[in-house]
Amino acid sequence: MSETPKVAIVGATGAVGEEMRLCLEERNFPLESLTLLASARSAGKKMTFRGEEITVQELTHDSFQGIDIALFSAGGGISLTFGPSAAAAGCVVIDNSSAFRMDPEVPLVVPEINPEAAKSAPKKIIANPNCSTIIALMGLAPLHDAFGLRSIIASTYQAVSGSGAQGIVELEEQVKAIANGEDFETKVYPRQIAFNVIPQVDAFTDNGYTKEELKMLNEGRKILGLPELKVSCTCVRVPVYRSHSISLTAQFEKPVDVEAAKAAFAGRAGVQVKDDPENGLFPVPLDTTGQDDCLVGRIRKNTVFKNALDLWVVGDQVRKGAALNAVQIAEVL
Ligand code: NAP
Repeated sequence: MSETPKVAIVGATGAVGEEMRLCLEERNFPLESLTLLASARSAGKKMTFRGEEITVQELTHDSFQGIDIALFSAGGGISLTFGPSAAAAGCVVIDNSSAFRMDPEVPLVVPEINPEAAKSAPKKIIANPNCSTIIALMGLAPLHDAFGLRSIIASTYQAVSGSGAQGIVELEEQVKAIANGEDFETKVYPRQIAFNVIPQVDAFTDNGYTKEELKMLNEGRKILGLPELKVSCTCVRVPVYRSHSISLTAQFEKPVDVEAAKAAFAGRAGVQVKDDPENGLFPVPLDTTGQDDCLVGRIRKNTVFKNALDLWVVGDQVRKGAALNAVQIAEVL
């Protein structure tokens, strides 16, 4: 890989694609050129990168000639259609969708947890994990290293920006309509999202879990290299603009204690402990919005299970849950 690769963003006009451009700029990512790709609807749109205007181009199968790294963030269908042609053109694909995550020949990488996995990508495709999975594992990996993780029970509180720009519009429109006593439609979510919470993120599967909930199980096992890890997850959409929060009960092989758990986070990149509830200090979504680091708080001994802790992890799902993680993978390369 060249030390100054030619980089492309697929889905450059989307919520995650825009954040990828920001992350590349903020982190002074060494690159020779940046190509911005989106649908025909956005072709010709101008966007700024490092003070220069770049014109968005329509994505085609020929878009990847001469590109070294393509950051894909335009949905799974686009990744399945265009990812293999990008790889065939010699480009390394870092894919933000779920299209290739469980392919055994595609590494699934959180750079703070399993960076070495990124170095073996026989299909030239590397997958970025699901946003809630990344955030949960940022809080669990240091504890796994200290105590040995056995099982996770998780409940997520997922922001509407996780559904892209349309999720934000739907929440805003419903809040305004309710304040003005007007009728409104639900388009993005199965129920009203304003002043409500919805225990459905993505489609239900045969066993009653949603696809999003099963990602925490399958992707968590793959990233941590723990094929026997037990995970039960409930994913909930909440009327928060940005940053996902996750309540976790984690059971470990070894005995745990709260002070040792807090100490396990010392020196760990990308995650900080914010845990002094008596003084009102615990992480909330507004704390992590626009921030790189995930925050962990409410660490306590679980009173139901042996060797178990309860904790609360919050992270910006557009940034660490998607764009930043993808750019960090490119940095590893
Ligand atoms: P979004 O805001 O709706 O953006 C979608 C992007 O895909 C836009 O740039 C859009 O371009 C582009 N696109 C759509 N159809 C296309 C086509 N036929 N050809 C080329 N480009 C096309 O969505 P998002 O929230 O950024 O999500 C993008 C991906 O990231 C999804 O796979 C999502 O699951 C994943 N993700 C999102 C989040 C999050 O918090 N939002 C977190 C983790 C992962 P136009 O502007 O031209 O339509």
